[in-house]
Amino acid sequence: MMAQSKALLVLENFIGGKFIPCSSYIDSYNPSTGDVYCKVPDSGKEEVEAAVKAAKDAFPIWSSKCPLERSQILNKLADLIERDLEAFAQAESKDQGKTITFARTVDIPRAAYNFRFFASSILHHVTECTEMATMGCVHYTSRVPVGVAGLISPWNLPLYLLTWKIAPAIACGNTVVAKPSEMTSVTAWMMCKLLEKAGVPHGVVNIVFGMGAKAGEALVCHPDVPLISFTGSTLTAQRIAEKSAPHCKRLSLELGGKNPAIIFDDADLSQCIPTTLRSSFANQGEICLCTSRIFVQRGIYSEFLKRFVAEAKKWKTGNPSDPTVDVGALISKEHLEKVRNYVKKAQAEGARVLCGEGVDALDLPPGNQKGYFMLPTVITEVKDESCCMQEEIFGPVTCVVAFDTEEEVIKRANGVKYGLAATVWSSNVGRVHRVARRLQSGLVWTNCWLVRDLNLPFGGMKASGIGREGAKDSYEFFTEVKTITIKH
Ligand code: ADP
Repeated sequence: MMAQSKALLVLENFIGGKFIPCSSYIDSYNPSTGDVYCKVPDSGKEEVEAAVKAAKDAFPIWSSKCPLERSQILNKLADLIERDLEAFAQAESKDQGKTITFARTVDIPRAAYNFRFFASSILHHVTECTEMATMGCVHYTSRVPVGVAGLISPWNLPLYLLTWKIAPAIACGNTVVAKPSEMTSVTAWMMCKLLEKAGVPHGVVNIVFGMGAKAGEALVCHPDVPLISFTGSTLTAQRIAEKSAPHCKRLSLELGGKNPAIIFDDADLSQCIPTTLRSSFANQGEICLCTSRIFVQRGIYSEFLKRFVAEAKKWKTGNPSDPTVDVGALISKEHLEKVRNYVKKAQAEGARVLCGEGVDALDLPPGNQKGYFMLPTVITEVKDESCCMQEEIFGPVTCVVAFDTEEEVIKRANGVKYGLAATVWSSNVGRVHRVARRLQSGLVWTNCWLVRDLNLPFGGMKASGIGREGAKDSYEFFTEVKTITIKH
């Protein structure tokens, strides 16, 4: 499936059930070596037009199938992804820079599970009904698929986040045109090869590869795409909102975070420290849910910091395909530079870097010397106003600061433009409830991190997004509701 030795892997768009070559291509890099290894179609308006047409043509038949039939097809697709789990994991790790362990245990199992989950949940929705006896009327709601869904996904969890959109969209009876990130397109292309075998009719899932400003924007501006589900940066979301406004499109926007961890004196540090290391550095810190501001109550601040830094130093950075490695490569040279600059800026402002970037030596195998690697980095003595405490860094960098009171820490945790995820560590149940209610955050994890029930809403407040996704929320987003009244 993958290219032989040095031959470049060349991807093709998937439109109307066929792989179609493109007239121009973008170079895609292997982040762990810095080499170009893949060519990604540089699609534009023409390719998007063809994909939307194929999706429109497929809509009448797909949308009229019964949910059970669609459910069986989604389950079959999940089976096929699971069958090829190892090949998908290898490809995701090579394309994105993430460790093979993370791809094997998180990305690909979750991609398969996304299909399985929506295959099941689509069978269990009920609509509302009310009776108005005095008028001799019953009212009920009916939900129908919207049409062609435009799906735009990012590079950090490529197949995981793409399937989190495709699965509910097609389960609800929509057809889709998806555009994965130009930096991580390979696993989406591999999945296209499984669609026919799973029984997905031609035109139900179309994938157009290319740049955001060209292919992505053509999709956002297409008049026959009434709905856009986007995961990515807040800046791009603003552009998408602007460009789709003349069409009054329905938008779901899952954006960045500047997520706090609040650790009270009575926290169980034996649980808190390993989990907070994961929440800071998992997937190289390239998860919108990663912790990047750690507030520790004064009484345990020194102990926490000492233990946290000692453990962070044990995280092994290196070749992502080595199963003993904890931190792989960052997505691109530009992104690595951006993340490093945040550390430099913090130092210039007087903050202290306790481990990682600029402090410890990065020891890389010979084949990875040109890869985009960075050690887990812990910054302290940093002000709340600093850009490292305000802006999303999206790398293996976390800041640790002290606080005194509950009231104070809530205010400081809320003092950023984002509101995606927070973690609270305490054994006092009353306090946990009080704090969770007051945090401006779409998700609050207490004494844990990244434990998800896909039934429940996922999404952010403030600059972290608009809308929620989950069993019920995705169903509502990907369907139109109408109220029907019958008088007897
Ligand atoms: P990042 O800045 O982290 O790379 P982006 O928000 O730019 O994140 O990217 C997320 C997704 O949005 C990618 O698939 C990207 O190609 C796409 N994208 C970027 N710019 C636009 C745009 N103007 N219109 C539509 N999609 C875009």
